[in-house]
Amino acid sequence: MRSLVDTLRERHELAPNQYLALLTMHDPQVVEYLIGQAREVAQQQFGRGIFLRALIELSNVCRNDCLYCGIRRSNRHVARYTLTCDQVLDCCEQGYQFGFRTFVLQGGEWGEERSQWIADLIREIRQNWPDCAITLSLGEHPRETYALWRDAGADRYLLRHETHNERLYSLLHPRELTIQHRLQCLEWLKELGYQVGAGIMVGAPFQSLKAIVEDIQYLIDFKPHMIGIGPFIPQSDTPLGRFPAGSVDLTARLYAIMRLAIPHALIPSTTAMATLASDGRCRGILAGANVVMPNLSPVENRSQYALYDNKAALGAESVQGIKLLEDELASIGYHIDWSRGDSPRQ
Ligand code: SF4
Repeated sequence: MRSLVDTLRERHELAPNQYLALLTMHDPQVVEYLIGQAREVAQQQFGRGIFLRALIELSNVCRNDCLYCGIRRSNRHVARYTLTCDQVLDCCEQGYQFGFRTFVLQGGEWGEERSQWIADLIREIRQNWPDCAITLSLGEHPRETYALWRDAGADRYLLRHETHNERLYSLLHPRELTIQHRLQCLEWLKELGYQVGAGIMVGAPFQSLKAIVEDIQYLIDFKPHMIGIGPFIPQSDTPLGRFPAGSVDLTARLYAIMRLAIPHALIPSTTAMATLASDGRCRGILAGANVVMPNLSPVENRSQYALYDNKAALGAESVQGIKLLEDELASIGYHIDWSRGDSPRQ
C-alpha cells in the first residue's frame, strides 16, 4: 500500500481502484505514511506558512433550495440579512488593518438583477485595497455575470461542484440544478481568467466511496487552483438534517490524496473540520492543507449564516481570535503567511 502512495506522489495519478484502496485502508501506519508524504509535499510547495483568507458572509438570502443547506430558500427559521455596501467595506478595512490581503465575499445565490450591485461593490474594494485579492463565492450565474465581476476586479471564484456523480447530485439538489450546469460554470470561470476553486462534501447522505473516487478523478482532470473539501454536517431544519456528519479522518485522507495529486493546489483546512473536532483544523494542515479562512463578518450576523449546525464561530474562527490561531499553528510548527497567497500556477 505504501507503494501506491509513492506512485501517487511521483505520477500524481492512480487507477480508480487504487484510490478506493487508499480511501478504505485500515493500517494506521500506512495512513500516517500517506498523511506524512502529503505534508512533506505541501511544505516543499509553500513552506510552513498558512495563507489566511478573510471570509465576509455577504448575505444569507438564496434563491436555491439545496437539500443539505441551512440557508436554503424554504427554511423559514432563518432570519435573512444582506450586508450593506458600507458594512462590507468596514469588514475589509478592519481586515486590511489586521493584515489580511484576501477578501472572500460569500453568500447565497441571488438573481441576476443584483449582479450590478455586486460589480459596484467589487470595484469599490478593488479601488480601496488594490493590493488585495478579491474572491467570490456566490454560486451559479450566466457567463456574462462572471465576466462583469471579473472586469470589476474579482480575481478568484469558489464554486464547489459538491459531487461529480449525477445521481448523487440529483439527490442533494432540487431538480432545476444539474451537475452539467455547475461544471459548465466552472469552465466559464476558468476561461475568464479567474483562479478557480472546486470541491466536495465528504460523507454527504447517499454518497459512496466510488462517488468520491469520481470526484478525485474530476478534480485531477479539471485542475482547479483551489480545492475546498469539508465533511458534511447536517443542519436540523433541512430535509437531510437527520443524517450523520461526515468523517474528519476521511476528509484529512482526501486532503492528503489531493495534495499528492495536485501539489500546487491551495487547499483550505475548512471550518467544518474545526466544527467536528477541536483539533480538526490542525489535522487538516498536517494532512497537506495550507489555507485557513477566518470569519470577518459582523459578529451579529454570524449565527444567521448557519449552513450547518454548531458551526465553529468563536476563538480562532473570528478575527478577534487570531492570536489563538497563531498559537494553534505554532503548536504544530506552522505560522501565518500574511501575503495574498496566489496560486503558484495562474
Ligand atoms: S448550498 Fe448555496 S446555492 Fe444551495 S441553498 Fe445553500 S447557499 Fe443556496
